[in-house]
Amino acid sequence: MSALGLAGVASGDDRYRPGGPWAPNENAINYESLLDNDELADRLEGIDQRSDRVELEEIGRSAGRNDPIWEVTLGDGDESVHLINAIHGDEPAGVQAIVKVIERLAQGTSPEVEGILDNLTLTIVPSANPDGNEFRGDDGLAEEGERIQRRINTAEWEEGDSVRQPNYVYDYLEVGGYDLNRDFSILTDFDPEEDESEGTWEQDEYGNWSYNLSTDDLPLEPTIDDPPETIWNHGLRLNPETRAITDSYLAADPDWALTHHHQNAPVDPDSADEPGPDWQTMMSVMAPQGPAYADVSDDIEEGGGNVFLSEDAQRRSLQLGVLAKDAAQARGGGRLDKINRYGYGPLWGSYEEALPPRTDAAALLYEVSHQSSDRGQMAMGTAINVTVKVYMETFRRIADGSVGKIDEMRYFDEMSVPSESVRNPHYRR
Ligand SMILES: [Zn+2]
Repeated sequence: MSALGLAGVASGDDRYRPGGPWAPNENAINYESLLDNDELADRLEGIDQRSDRVELEEIGRSAGRNDPIWEVTLGDGDESVHLINAIHGDEPAGVQAIVKVIERLAQGTSPEVEGILDNLTLTIVPSANPDGNEFRGDDGLAEEGERIQRRINTAEWEEGDSVRQPNYVYDYLEVGGYDLNRDFSILTDFDPEEDESEGTWEQDEYGNWSYNLSTDDLPLEPTIDDPPETIWNHGLRLNPETRAITDSYLAADPDWALTHHHQNAPVDPDSADEPGPDWQTMMSVMAPQGPAYADVSDDIEEGGGNVFLSEDAQRRSLQLGVLAKDAAQARGGGRLDKINRYGYGPLWGSYEEALPPRTDAAALLYEVSHQSSDRGQMAMGTAINVTVKVYMETFRRIADGSVGKIDEMRYFDEMSVPSESVRNPHYRR
């Protein structure tokens, strides 16, 4: 039996609206309702067969299960959008949502769909971490053979893979693996065997090793004269998933880079001003920021942030964040409109940090609330629905150019960073 599904526990904290922070757990998550790797392949192949608008390609295989990593291409417009879902395998709402979006774009006849396909080229990796999406091993969290999801893939680090074992390997589980969103490199052709001497290893107080590069050694020009000397916690591109996604990204040469995650269960700080108890945040967004916004951002210091992003890319990233808020408000109402921002700091081994500077892309990270292991079916439906709405509206407003009219300062003025999270009253270990 899994850690989930203990029905009938009274809902947690009275300060929060019913159904807001924590739906009763009697509809606890059933992993079988989420697409496994074969089901995803069937759905994508079915869409591909029924529509001549879709190109479906296998761009690689996962490290452990050797399952396909799919790429879907749609549209033939000038604006290139690259989008990846569920690089953390236990964050599945983006996978579920993007299949609905792809179906709509593959078959729809509305002016909205036409506008998107005429003006955008969409390159989508529906499920970036097949090992994590469908884990059936014994890692101490699930019985052998039972399907669960987990954050990491199933590639074990071995002596010689890199000079040190990097800090983004989880080696304390029966079956170890990598956090793939720490394995990207701003050096997009970095080869650990040949290039590892370029950087330096540093050990923290807990004995964990990170790999750092000197800013001077990078092929990109910082946008300021006195950038930080070191780029910390660089990824080593040790995993086939990371390398396949990087290749997909570079081939797409995107103007926009989007990535989908889950988070905990923050409380919307803005809802304190409304009558009644607080609402829970449904989604947070995080836009990479750089020196152009250091004086208005609470998130970064003067001279900090992503010093390789152009001012234009920084502005468009913030506009994407505001767009997500407006999309949920316009189309959702009620609980769907609780969208906050997530505090930003550069995470150099991540997709959203390492790759966008290579193509002058704006970037946005979406995080819907709750990991897959801790919330009921209805809440998963909400996370999927809000993602579909935000994706469609984002595509529509990039396609019609209206994203460029958004006042990006609203990202700072109107969106708060939550400071409080709700604890799962049903969690048992
Ligand atoms: Zn994540």
